[in-house]
Amino acid sequence: MSNIGNEFGQVLNSVLTAGEGAGLEELCQGVVTRYRNAGQPEPEAIYVDRDCCSQSGVSAVAKLFRPWRSAVRLDSFHFMRRFNCGLTTEHHPLYGTFCAKLSACIFLWDQEDVQRLKEAKRAEWKSSHSGHTPTDDQLMATISSAEIKRHCRRRTRGVEEMRSSISGLLESVWELTDTTGLRLVSHDSMRHVWEVQQKHLECLQDPAGVALYTKVGTLQKGGKELDILRCGRGSSSLESFHRHQCAFIPGTFACVVIIQNSTITTDGYSYVFTLQ
Ligand SMILES: [Zn+2]
Repeated sequence: MSNIGNEFGQVLNSVLTAGEGAGLEELCQGVVTRYRNAGQPEPEAIYVDRDCCSQSGVSAVAKLFRPWRSAVRLDSFHFMRRFNCGLTTEHHPLYGTFCAKLSACIFLWDQEDVQRLKEAKRAEWKSSHSGHTPTDDQLMATISSAEIKRHCRRRTRGVEEMRSSISGLLESVWELTDTTGLRLVSHDSMRHVWEVQQKHLECLQDPAGVALYTKVGTLQKGGKELDILRCGRGSSSLESFHRHQCAFIPGTFACVVIIQNSTITTDGYSYVFTLQ
């Protein structure tokens, strides 16, 4: 399945093929033509989940969308997911902490936005706690991750800062285990993952001069006005589209392991599948 979406979360094209890569050229050139016919400027950045860069200098994606000169960037969620191959299991109790810290190695919150949100939350707390001022810990506990995403911008750290932050994180979790002694990190695999992924730190950088956030409204909190922001970075709007795709394809869920030696009835006919 190949999907293309825009910064508004609209799906521009979705193609299901039996083999990966078939017809991509026509798909992408079709989108280029639609933009041209509609008089729309070419996108400033294209976020992808693979093929972000190439040894030859021009990424495969940039070629597919020629003559656009958009910056090609790697979606950070997909970059982070590649580190799963260096872990012993995603069900490790330290997995969530690792992912949160990895994300913090890549992104930095805008301190002015965070300060504004904290002031609003402080005022809200005071009015509901008879004028008492919360401690910093109490205040931070009232701010949900959805709230910080709605009101605060993030930007990517520079390449070298990212490199040393992720190296430091890997060092700090290298020997960590759960209570049964199971390591979080699979050493050889993680060495390989990190060696390969370092070349993509450049591909994660926010493109210079591109406004990745749009103000879509405001709301009142604690008597202060806060901006509601929408982020156009990455391909997360397509991720939610992925979750709906299973529903598009009707029929019995079947795979060869589950249906071996069992009978499935479709339209009154019986079929017996046997695993060869
Ligand atoms: Zn890359």
